[in-house]
Amino acid sequence: MRTFQIAIVGAGVIGQTLAITLARLGFSVLLIEQRPLMTDMPSQEDAWRERCVALNLESQQLLKQCGVNWDRLGPFCQNYSKMQVWDADSTASIDFLATELYLESLGCILPTSALSVCLSDCLQAYPNICILAPHCVQTYRMNADSVTVCCEKTEHTVQLVVAAEGVRSQLRELFGFQMQTWDYQQASVVATIQVTQGDAHCAYQQFQGVEGPIALLPLPKPNWYSLVWSTTPAHATVLCAMERADFAQALKQVTMGFFGDITCLTEPKQHPLVMQHTKEYFRERCVLVGDSAHSVHPLAGLGMNLGLKDVKVLATVLSVAKQQQRDLADSAVLKQYHQSRYPEVWEVIAFLEVIKRSFSSGHPVMRQLRELGLGFVAKQPWLKKQFMKVAIGIVSG
Ligand SMILES: Cc1cc2nc3c(=O)[nH]c(=O)nc-3n(C[C@H](O)[C@H](O)[C@H](O)COP(=O)(O)OP(=O)(O)OC[C@H]3O[C@@H](n4cnc5c(N)ncnc54)[C@H](O)[C@@H]3O)c2cc1C
Repeated sequence: MRTFQIAIVGAGVIGQTLAITLARLGFSVLLIEQRPLMTDMPSQEDAWRERCVALNLESQQLLKQCGVNWDRLGPFCQNYSKMQVWDADSTASIDFLATELYLESLGCILPTSALSVCLSDCLQAYPNICILAPHCVQTYRMNADSVTVCCEKTEHTVQLVVAAEGVRSQLRELFGFQMQTWDYQQASVVATIQVTQGDAHCAYQQFQGVEGPIALLPLPKPNWYSLVWSTTPAHATVLCAMERADFAQALKQVTMGFFGDITCLTEPKQHPLVMQHTKEYFRERCVLVGDSAHSVHPLAGLGMNLGLKDVKVLATVLSVAKQQQRDLADSAVLKQYHQSRYPEVWEVIAFLEVIKRSFSSGHPVMRQLRELGLGFVAKQPWLKKQFMKVAIGIVSG
């Protein structure tokens, strides 16, 4: 029977990227996913009708290092060089331009389905990765110097198991990780829309008082945007029950005709929004990455970017441990991962909370503070650049 050093449970974008990154460093990896892996590339239009995410430059660099075929993925992606943010309740607004950082783009919007197919192509190139899909881990057994993950019919003993199972991680529960959590009391309504007025290279964000932000992310097809409309759960339910034409009309009204006429191309789907952050990134021989470790408000499009940063840091820490011939689950090794990720992710959570709270208050004083605050940032080139650098992932080490 083949043996592996590391088992990764969950082959979403984060689990797949981690498997490839570790395989490139010479680890033998077992990747377990409950669903069959996506191997057929969807058509562009089908892909743009599914979940699309904004990926910053640091994340793109990691994916390229993993061998993701950008010639194949490129036609699905839209680079954006401008971000326009404004407050519907006041005159506060700010524009972020890639040129201010001497860059061509601030990031790109891409469909996760197309990215997953490209990643599963990359997985095939590594004989040191074994994929079990569809397969589920039922339980685990701790041994003196290893952990055994038990699936329905097979068992695999490894030095370290990584949970990359997304927000509702089962392994996280099994290992008894404790989470810090709060309800954002908002839900995101996601749809693909077509507008008659919009800049193809601009990502838009309109803050909407108590009801939350509306983001329009440009897609490569002219005037197509991926919409993320965050609002109260009750309003999200009303929006999702509407006919598409009425939904488009409601969006046009709330964005005050800024985007001209709007057509809704897909059924709007609702996603509840909960902040979750693990108190510890490892326990015994289990490590958390991606949404298993943290889930954040999508208002700045940072969730997957944070998960890809987890991958980068964890791979670096494990690579050093391997060179030093240490046990991969040595707590001194995994502590480095925790110490790097825990404070950085908290900073992002706090940053998002400040933005969410200050923009969701309808109080006149807060409204004025927003105007002053955004106006101040807009006039301070250094400060503005710091905001942009955080968003595109070139500040933190
Ligand atoms: C509305 C919205 C918009 C967003 N926009 C952005 C954005 O613009 N930019 C950004 O960076 N992030 C964004 N995010 C966040 C981003 O989508 C997530 O951070 C990212 O998808 C998390 O990836 P993951 O691989 O950790 O988890 P997932 O994508 O959830 O993958 C988990 C995988 O594990 C598998 N799995 C689960 N349980 C088991 C099990 N027990 N056994 C085996 N396999 C299992 C699942 O089948 C799945 O394949 C957004 C999120 C939302 C809700």
